[in-house]
Amino acid sequence: MNATFHPSDEFLMAYGAGSLDESSALLLATHLALCPRCRAEVGRIEALGGAIIEDLEPSDMGADALVSVLAKLDEPPPRPQPRCPAGGPSGLPSPLRDYLPADIDALPWKRLAAGIEQAILLQGRGIRARLLRIGAGITVPEHGHGGMEMTMVLRGGFSDLGRGYARGDVAMADPQVVHSPAADGGETCLCLAVTDAPLKLTGLVGMLVNPFLDL
Ligand SMILES: [Zn+2]
Repeated sequence: MNATFHPSDEFLMAYGAGSLDESSALLLATHLALCPRCRAEVGRIEALGGAIIEDLEPSDMGADALVSVLAKLDEPPPRPQPRCPAGGPSGLPSPLRDYLPADIDALPWKRLAAGIEQAILLQGRGIRARLLRIGAGITVPEHGHGGMEMTMVLRGGFSDLGRGYARGDVAMADPQVVHSPAADGGETCLCLAVTDAPLKLTGLVGMLVNPFLDL
């Protein structure tokens, strides 16, 4: 089934330009593995980038600059590098699979709240990629964000702010969003989430679940 919700155009363009951090690139690459629409879009962006450079008159830049830009275009854009030997858990798209042990239970899962666990996969420069497991029917305590949060569904699904997200879908939350996503009933929801700032819990429930502040 094709995804309904996709990363924003800004992220697709940055991915096509090879300028994303590793965590965001991992999420984008994982989404692209499941989404023909975004694969085509990134292909268009890459082709457009090449066409713009070809249209430039050599006099617009020093000859050396043009040669160096053209040489750069021949280099493949940076892509996430596997941290674990290939052969990760089946059912999850590559390249994410290559970051994981064969049994994802072997990851250092940390309980955040009743029925909610996370395992950090990558972090650096304030940007973090983690897997989230949310038990069937569990609601995540209401929270806001100090920055951007991008969440992709790998298994199961969740609803948030009136929208339903299924496998392959990407939910984008900016600093203005305060929300309380709820996993669908039936099966545990497994997500890949990338955040560029700690989550901020709101309300009394937030104050009661301090471990969440570690997010
Ligand atoms: Zn897409």
